[in-house]
Amino acid sequence: MNHDRTRRVVLSAILGSMLQLIFAQNLSIYPYLLIRAMAEIIFLGTGGSIATPQRDNTAFLLRDTRSVVLVDCPGSVVQKLRKVKVDPREVSVVLLTHIHPDHVYGWPSFIHSLMLEEGEVRLCGSAESVDLARRLLDLFRLREKGVRTRVIFKRLEPGRENAAGEALTVKPLRVPHHASSLAYRFCFRNEGKEVVLSGDTPLHPPLFEEARAAGCLVHDCSAPSRVFRQYPALRRMHTNALDLGKQAQEAGVECLVPVHFLGEVGFSRAEIEREIRREFRGRLVIPEDFQRLKL
Ligand SMILES: [Zn+2]
Ligand SMILES: [Zn+2]
Repeated sequence: MNHDRTRRVVLSAILGSMLQLIFAQNLSIYPYLLIRAMAEIIFLGTGGSIATPQRDNTAFLLRDTRSVVLVDCPGSVVQKLRKVKVDPREVSVVLLTHIHPDHVYGWPSFIHSLMLEEGEVRLCGSAESVDLARRLLDLFRLREKGVRTRVIFKRLEPGRENAAGEALTVKPLRVPHHASSLAYRFCFRNEGKEVVLSGDTPLHPPLFEEARAAGCLVHDCSAPSRVFRQYPALRRMHTNALDLGKQAQEAGVECLVPVHFLGEVGFSRAEIEREIRREFRGRLVIPEDFQRLKL
C-alpha cells in the first residue's frame, strides 16, 4: 500500500512539474494536441473557375491525426499546403470530383514537386477522372523511372465506401454536373464526424439526404439567384445561394458551407449570406481561402 501511495505521489509530482514547465515556457502543447485530435477541413480555395485576388479555384484538405486527403488539385497546391503548414509529403490520397480544368490542372505539377521523394500517392476518382490524371502524368513524363513518388490509380464506384486513411472513409456519390462528376461523403471514424462535399453541381436532392445524415454540407454556391436569372444555363451546372439555402433548410442540414463562388461576376459575401439566410436557419460558414473548419 505504502509503495503504491509513494508511486502515486512521485508520478503526480513529475506530471505537475512537466505541466509547470509547459506553462512557464508557454509551449502551448495542450492546445496543439487538441487541434491535432480534431477532424478538420482546410479550404485551399473557395472560388469558381476564374480566380480573384481573394479566392482561387476550389480545393480542400481533409485531415485528422493520421491522414491528409486532398480533394481536387488546381494550381499552386504545394505553396498553398505550405501556407497552411502541411508538408506536401503528408498527402497520401488525392480525390478528384470531375475533369474540369479548375479542379485538375495542378495535378501534374503536384507530382512533379514530389518527384525526388520516395513515397506513394493514391489518385482516386471516376474512371474518366483517373484516366485524365494518368494521361496528364504521361504527357509530362511523370511516370518514368526518375520519378520516385509512385502513383496508384483507383477508380471509385458511386455508392461504395472506400478507405481514405487509417480512420477515414469516403463514399462517392453521383452528381449531375458533368457525366462522371462525383460528390464525396467522408466519415472520420474515430471522432464520429461526417461531411459531404458536393463538388460542382446543380441542386440534386438525393445529395441533401446524405448531407442531413452527415450533419455538414460543403456545397457549390456559384452566385446569387439574380446571376442565374441573367444566365439561365448556369442552373444546369451549378447552384445559386437562394436555392441552396432553401433546399438545405428543407432537408434539415445542420451546418452549411457554400463554396465555388464565380469570380467573373460581381457580388458580395453579404449578398450570398442574405440569400441563404432567407430560408436556412442552421449553422452557416462562408469560408475564405485558407480558413480551417473543425467538424
Ligand atoms: Zn469548378
Ligand atoms: Zn466543373
